[in-house]
Amino acid sequence: AAFLEGITVFSQSSKLSNVLYDIRGPVLEEADRMEAAGNRILKLNIGNPAPFGFEAPDAILVDMIKHLPEAQGYSDSRGILSARRAVVQYYETKGIRSLDADDVYLGNGVSELITLAMQALCDPGDEILVPMPDYPLWTASVALSGGTPVHYRCAEDEGWMPDLEDIAAKITPRTRGIVVINPNNPTGAVYSRETLEGLVKLAREHDLLMFADEIYEKITYGDAEMINLATITGDDVLCLTFSGLSKAYRIAGYRSGWLAITGPLHRASSYIEGIRLLANMRMCSNVPSQHAIQAALGGHQTIEDLVLPTGRLGAQMDLSARKLNEIDGVSAQPADGALYLFAKLDVERFGIVDDQRFALDLLREQKILVSHGRAFNWDKPDHFRLVTLPSVEVLDEALDRLGDFLSGYEQR
Ligand code: PLP
Repeated sequence: AAFLEGITVFSQSSKLSNVLYDIRGPVLEEADRMEAAGNRILKLNIGNPAPFGFEAPDAILVDMIKHLPEAQGYSDSRGILSARRAVVQYYETKGIRSLDADDVYLGNGVSELITLAMQALCDPGDEILVPMPDYPLWTASVALSGGTPVHYRCAEDEGWMPDLEDIAAKITPRTRGIVVINPNNPTGAVYSRETLEGLVKLAREHDLLMFADEIYEKITYGDAEMINLATITGDDVLCLTFSGLSKAYRIAGYRSGWLAITGPLHRASSYIEGIRLLANMRMCSNVPSQHAIQAALGGHQTIEDLVLPTGRLGAQMDLSARKLNEIDGVSAQPADGALYLFAKLDVERFGIVDDQRFALDLLREQKILVSHGRAFNWDKPDHFRLVTLPSVEVLDEALDRLGDFLSGYEQR
């Protein structure tokens, strides 16, 4: 009918009204438009190793290809047993001995398992403590599930460690769990034992469950030590550990991740049944990529050679941190892990009131794509995230261009 013209008939669900995932938002859309118009964009916006020459170890591909004929059917909804056993054995080598293969769930990347774990848990009004800044899927998943994300501060001047006092002050009778991202995206922090013990103590005191996002567990620089949270939570704190092959094994596109549940499972049988129900409803994760897990975890083909001081990632991280700190009006805490720097802008100097506009201006003028800090639920317009995956030569040039851009930048 003509009178309906221009009126949106099929509007999105109100469930989405508080769901944001701006690292794939308007700035990326503008970059896509510019690319379609023939521009070459340097993409420093997403932690996707393969396009930057970090390709999967051969042994993983060979194993996947060999298993393709037998990967045609659905698997158990938790995933194939050999892969789940490989996950159990992997955590045994880390000192986590209480994990059973039946408490491992394989997913289409960690992403699917994060949303599934939140959907199974949250009722309206339930609060989940999420770091600020965060990897925004966490905040979005809590919001989508009907829960309330409550952001706890990570302290930039203390190497981005979680602020335990801020967390303690934000715990209420409705708080159900704490999200811990270690090594951290976007800050690059790797948490000390003391910090992790402090977090677990709070969880124990307030009977909270813990979500440990450890997808960058193998990507640490220098002598930073990555400690799996489940080695500290022990028998009395429920811990859901998420990890996978996207980063350490460079196969983000194959979508292969896992969730391992440890701790007092008997106290969480209803929640675990919920997780099982949602896993059943999506049948199973992509079966060919489940076959990559045993090959990856059983072999020696990890990212370790690339993060040594002489390795590619280590050198790229060092150069990026040094060059960012050389730009007037920019500072960045050095990263001990992961693939990012969360850099601070002097907003007074540049007159920045809108960090998304800063990212758009940089994109349009220099064809460099970064993510603005608010996309990580940071509460001020004074940060941006840089991905350190490109080669030293490319980063060197990009950071020179960022410096040139900022030397004449004034937003107001
Ligand atoms: N968690 C963190 C902290 C991430 O940075 C990412 C991807 O960038 C994910 C989870 C999602 O990873 P996956 O590819 O396994 O879905």
